[in-house]
Amino acid sequence: MIRYRLQCAHAHEFEAWFASSASYDAQAAGGHITCPECNSREVGKSIMAPNVALRARGEVAIPDDEAPARYRNLVREVRRVLVSGSEDVGARFPEEARKIHYREVEQRAIRGTASPDEARALVEEGVEIMALPRLPEDAN
Ligand SMILES: [Zn+2]
Repeated sequence: MIRYRLQCAHAHEFEAWFASSASYDAQAAGGHITCPECNSREVGKSIMAPNVALRARGEVAIPDDEAPARYRNLVREVRRVLVSGSEDVGARFPEEARKIHYREVEQRAIRGTASPDEARALVEEGVEIMALPRLPEDAN
């Protein structure tokens, strides 16, 4: 058995199994393969897959000279989402995080500060916390 990724004239892609490549050739030549979406008989082996894969790779590849700027923007965006959706409890963070973890208070997203030791203790207790991504400029 051999599996081909096929595409009809309307760009519908689907996969089909054939006994052999010769079997595929014979069925394709006889017009016996139809698109499951539109019943088109104009079906051929998909040539889209490798192109799509190449394009997708191209889109995620960031040129080196732009990477730092894009990374900063991404970090900024992640921070913005995390910060806007959470309550600032400041230095009470470890205490509040525990209360939430042990369901002593209403479940909510919080942010605040914790020393490395406090953060480690929370993690060891199984309290789910994450460090906000920091940018070099934030340290000022
Ligand atoms: Zn189709």
